[in-house]
Amino acid sequence: MIPLSEPFLGGNEWAYLKQCLDTNWVSSAGSFVEAFERIVATYSGAGHAVAVNSGTSALHLALLLARVQANELVLLPNLTFVATANAVRYVGAQPVLIDVRPDDWQMDLDLVEEFLDKSCELQEGSCMHLPSGKRVAALLPVHVLGGMADMDRLLAIAQGWQLPLIEDAAEAVGSRWKDQHAGTLGTLGCLSFNGNKIITTGGGGMLLCRDEDLARRARHLASQAKVPGSPYYHDCTGYNYRLPNLLAALGVAQMEQLDSLLRKRQQLATTYREQLPGVQFQKTHPFCRPNHWLTTIYTHRKEAILQFLQARHIQARSLWTPIKQLPMYQECLYISRENHSQHLFEHCLSLPSSASLTETDQLRVIEAIKAALLRFSA
Ligand SMILES: *Cc1c(COP(=O)(O)O)cnc(C)c1O
Repeated sequence: MIPLSEPFLGGNEWAYLKQCLDTNWVSSAGSFVEAFERIVATYSGAGHAVAVNSGTSALHLALLLARVQANELVLLPNLTFVATANAVRYVGAQPVLIDVRPDDWQMDLDLVEEFLDKSCELQEGSCMHLPSGKRVAALLPVHVLGGMADMDRLLAIAQGWQLPLIEDAAEAVGSRWKDQHAGTLGTLGCLSFNGNKIITTGGGGMLLCRDEDLARRARHLASQAKVPGSPYYHDCTGYNYRLPNLLAALGVAQMEQLDSLLRKRQQLATTYREQLPGVQFQKTHPFCRPNHWLTTIYTHRKEAILQFLQARHIQARSLWTPIKQLPMYQECLYISRENHSQHLFEHCLSLPSSASLTETDQLRVIEAIKAALLRFSA
């Protein structure tokens, strides 16, 4: 079986894990947590990085820190992994789903501006959605498959409407806008180290921010809001979101290899594009240097190719069912003209993109896709 995206644990993972076990430092109090935070903060250029137990936890904390309240509105793309929308619900807020662009598959900023210009008004520093009377509390773009929307334009929109910008950079570890790392452009950024992401701690995430006070509050909320030095005195409702030392140890080892893993994925992406001329791939904005997490194609023969690959033990995958199609989000406001999210969901296919994919195996995938296209295009 050629997997879609498998972890690459080829560095100091064993050594650092052993160090945790040998010294009994397994919980979040261990020193790898701080080391992991430091290495991610340095690598990304974020002022501060707070390690948490998942990307979803990072999103939840980010929304809390941006003071998104119950019954407020948060703008996010309709085409994303469900965690983005779920985190909005965790704080009692309501997603406003924005359709994506047909070329780069990112949140369509024309639609964002149209929504704000046509139906919202700035009232005493708050962006009010006039038809519902609700406050728009944040913009929550997702760097879909490691690509990015036009971040300069998005930052200008956020500033103009005085909205916090929270980046769901769960899929974008290693991606950059000009020289800035994904998740460091807005107010807060969220990374994921889930098993199928570009680097992994088994499960884990990181909250990025520039503001020291935000980072301090994030750590506080993530550790049950316990007041340090106190006899179990907690000053608000906190969460058990800290990353255990065992997993942070994996994180440090993974970060040491990130650049070589990115080079490998870039190479795979280039080879797919060179060897499959005439096939349509995800486009990227010229200012974005994507991490090539999953090379993904657009094809009118998605189901047939998927089955053809499966029969040859090659794992490929659809994009996510659009959020608007999920039962718990059907009532959400959806801003769209042509429902590109649904169309892309029906036509896109992610190809094997593991850093461990050999040249021979990649050629097997390429030959299989060529054969499938030949058979099903007739
Ligand atoms: C993976 C992912 C998440 C959630 O990350 P976990 O670490 O699995 O909780 C959130 N948003 C997007 C876009 C993702 O791909």
